[in-house]
Amino acid sequence: MENDVELKTPKSLRLHIGVFGRTNVGKSTLVNYISDQDTSIVSSVAGTTTDSVYKSMELSPLGPITLIDTAGIDDISDLSKERIERTAKVFDSTDVAIIVLEQNIWTKYENEIVKQLNDKKTPFLFVINNYKKESLDEDFIKKLSSYKFIETELLQDKNYREQFLASLKQNLLSVIPEDSLNLQPLTQNIIKSFQTVVMVVPLDLGAPKGRLILPQVQMIRACLDINAVVIITKETELKQTLEKLKDKPDIVICDSQVVKKVLNIIPEDVAFTTFSIIFSSNKSDFKTMLEGIKAIKNLKPADKVLIAEACSHHASKDDIGRVKIPKLLSKYLGFELRFDVSSGIDYPKNLEDYSLIIHCGGCMINKKQMISRLNYAVNKNIPITNYGMVISFVNNTLDRVIQPFVKNI
Ligand code: SF4
Repeated sequence: MENDVELKTPKSLRLHIGVFGRTNVGKSTLVNYISDQDTSIVSSVAGTTTDSVYKSMELSPLGPITLIDTAGIDDISDLSKERIERTAKVFDSTDVAIIVLEQNIWTKYENEIVKQLNDKKTPFLFVINNYKKESLDEDFIKKLSSYKFIETELLQDKNYREQFLASLKQNLLSVIPEDSLNLQPLTQNIIKSFQTVVMVVPLDLGAPKGRLILPQVQMIRACLDINAVVIITKETELKQTLEKLKDKPDIVICDSQVVKKVLNIIPEDVAFTTFSIIFSSNKSDFKTMLEGIKAIKNLKPADKVLIAEACSHHASKDDIGRVKIPKLLSKYLGFELRFDVSSGIDYPKNLEDYSLIIHCGGCMINKKQMISRLNYAVNKNIPITNYGMVISFVNNTLDRVIQPFVKNI
């Protein structure tokens, strides 16, 4: 059953619990203990976890979670620099953190972890791995006095696991904010129960064989969750689909690439938007992304634009980010720009070189990570927007597609 849940709940919808600490304090032991599996290699040699290890599981009542076992941040050898950087990236996606401590040891590295989490406004608690069964000294307890912490001596003892998990879950629930536990549904503010939703899904060269893409699947599920009626069609059958309906649909949602075709078919008084716009409203900061659009008009020939993809996916020859958006922008502006593409969670180090970042919908990452990525740009004063907004802007349809959200901005 656990595997079933693991297969069906995308990582982007799971609560991300990052486990941090110095090397060899018991992070992997804790992850294995929580998951009841030997997910991470446990060894007494410091620094065994060379890269972050992700383990997805169901942890009732928190729901589907991803536990992230990170490399220790105190290993200063040259070889470890890269893995420490990778651990630093885990802060970006962590909804709630567990900091593992050894009894009576608090160093500058614990201060650094606390600082990084506070900077990201990430809630956290401590687990003291008291494997030496020492009594905790006064100074150490004083350090922890303003935080939640659990002390345990028994991370290897399976008989004690249920009791430990009960205490851990209770403490996690007391620090996790409500909006991290219960994500805002994709239908929020735009679709109500029993309304009729027509989704227009083109099956062009970019569509994966034999399945729908994740944003479409997630949107269908969100509508079904609130008992909305979902009708799915391609743009080529949209006219016939609408003719078969007794009443007009309450909203039409389409892929950004067929906005113009769809607008030529649907009545003007039917609410309309795109999957991409819904995701930017639900998953990132809609206002910032909309503000970023204004930078298009300030672009000059040969300016650098970053196409930021949050995952490395197979790019088709008709790829939106790599092919369609560069072509559309050059045509709209009447001159050529220079485009770079970054794939996966790494942003280029030279973000300052870009006049605009155009981000994908981020369907594979969680909201925390999407907001972190957005903030890297905002903190460097680089305008950032997304695929759907750019396509609608250059096609002169942006006002129409954002209309369902305007009252909530
Ligand atoms: S590139 Fe972005 S939108 Fe496309 S599949 Fe990856 S995370 Fe999702």
